[in-house]
Amino acid sequence: MNPIAVNSYRALPEHMFTGDIPVATGSPQLLILNDGLLQDYGIADTWFRSAEGLGVLSGNAINSDNPPMAMAYAGHQFGQRVPLLGDGRAHMLGQMHTANGNVDVQLKGSGPTAFARGGDGRATLASVLREYLVSEAMAGLGIPTTRSLAVIATGDAVYREEPEPGGILARTARSHIRVGSFQHAAGNLGDEAVKALADYMIEQHFPQCAAADNRYADLLVAVGERQAQLIAQWMLVGFIHGVMNTDNMSIVGETIDFGPCAFMDEFNADKVFSSIDRHGRYAWAKQPGIGLWNLTRLAETLLPLLSSDSDTAVRIAEAQLAPFMPAFQAAFYAGLRKKLGLRDQAEVGNGFADETLALLGEHAIDMTVFFDTLTRVAGDAPDGAVLELFSDTAGVQQWLTQWHSVRADDADTAQRMRRANPAVIARNHRVEEALRAATARNDLTPFLRLTGALQNPFHCAPENADLQTPPLPEERVTATFCGT
Ligand code: AMP
Ligand code: MG
Repeated sequence: MNPIAVNSYRALPEHMFTGDIPVATGSPQLLILNDGLLQDYGIADTWFRSAEGLGVLSGNAINSDNPPMAMAYAGHQFGQRVPLLGDGRAHMLGQMHTANGNVDVQLKGSGPTAFARGGDGRATLASVLREYLVSEAMAGLGIPTTRSLAVIATGDAVYREEPEPGGILARTARSHIRVGSFQHAAGNLGDEAVKALADYMIEQHFPQCAAADNRYADLLVAVGERQAQLIAQWMLVGFIHGVMNTDNMSIVGETIDFGPCAFMDEFNADKVFSSIDRHGRYAWAKQPGIGLWNLTRLAETLLPLLSSDSDTAVRIAEAQLAPFMPAFQAAFYAGLRKKLGLRDQAEVGNGFADETLALLGEHAIDMTVFFDTLTRVAGDAPDGAVLELFSDTAGVQQWLTQWHSVRADDADTAQRMRRANPAVIARNHRVEEALRAATARNDLTPFLRLTGALQNPFHCAPENADLQTPPLPEERVTATFCGT
């Protein structure tokens, strides 16, 4: 039986979604089903592997008992306000009851909707596989994220610069409501719609805010707290989202909409991957500032709910956003101290963490390799393992001496560091290589191998050692896969 049995979004005001349904595909095939995720959910794979399941996931069959919809939202893209965006190529099928609570199931690449704005409503198989890989890598790292449940090869060509194989991603999320959803409600539908949306989010996802004196003010703080934690976790593993537009920022604090995102190799605080981010708006170090900028756009939509007096409302909003940066800083530096295995001395530790990042930047040292090596040195590897990473060791010996003076050295320091320092990340050149093999040669082996290794990134099996190494100069990805 179809486990996607309910759809709580039907309770939202009418113009928060449309009744668009998926458009059928030629000869769909279930390419990947995420068995591990289904196991976590406590849901059997039977239906997903059935003809009926394939029909629903490919858009060829519509569940008339629980019909799909397309979600409406607005957004600021690269700082520019777009009054109406919405899911141009995605369909919300509804929610499944799982062992971990209710989750949305959404198809992406399932045909044009009322929001397609001339787009074809489709996704290339490569972009679908990319989202699958990176979102599952994120989950392996323990970072909140939308998940990838299944990949369907549509059997149809998608026309980008040239014809490419088409794909559909079935993804899950605690919620698909975005900052842009609130912007749509506020900009296009009015205060009542904003209130209905905020009440829906409180009821479904932030019940702790329901009893507060000002529940909407409380909601804003809670959303900010989750984003502060999320962005800190991204940065600690060198992740750059790449398109932190307000329509790509989830209210519940999951990483969502994996476009030209990537994990950086050599540390560079100004690193940008996306070729469309020409001004570096979404560079690694800019992410918390952008998070706050986006939250400010959210706060603007909530002003009428915060107080009937507009000056008071602004004052309340400012007060609720004030804890965001300190919360981010606290999470980020606590994470860095953990990565460095420091004794818990915030004052000394934070300064030392800054010096460490500066050192890595100056010498263009691979971030993951560095922290992985340091974790081994905290175990039984010699200091030389760190020194070997630097071609010019001036200043490094001094850094090591300092590290020895501030590090913790109890029996489980190395183990604690290990939990903060992945041995293997989704390196861009490996991701691209896996996508090339999958789409050009129909060979999923590298993709499945990489996805498998990233399920437990804190341990690298000897046979996966090649996945740990940074790209050679000729392997470097110069233009991050942006094909959608
Ligand atoms: P994104 O950059 O993926 O967050 O997408 C921004 C907006 O463009 C969203 O409204 C998408 O639904 C829409 N969009 C992206 N690609 C397509 C496409 N091929 N067809 C229709 N809409 C699209
Ligand atoms: Mg998006």
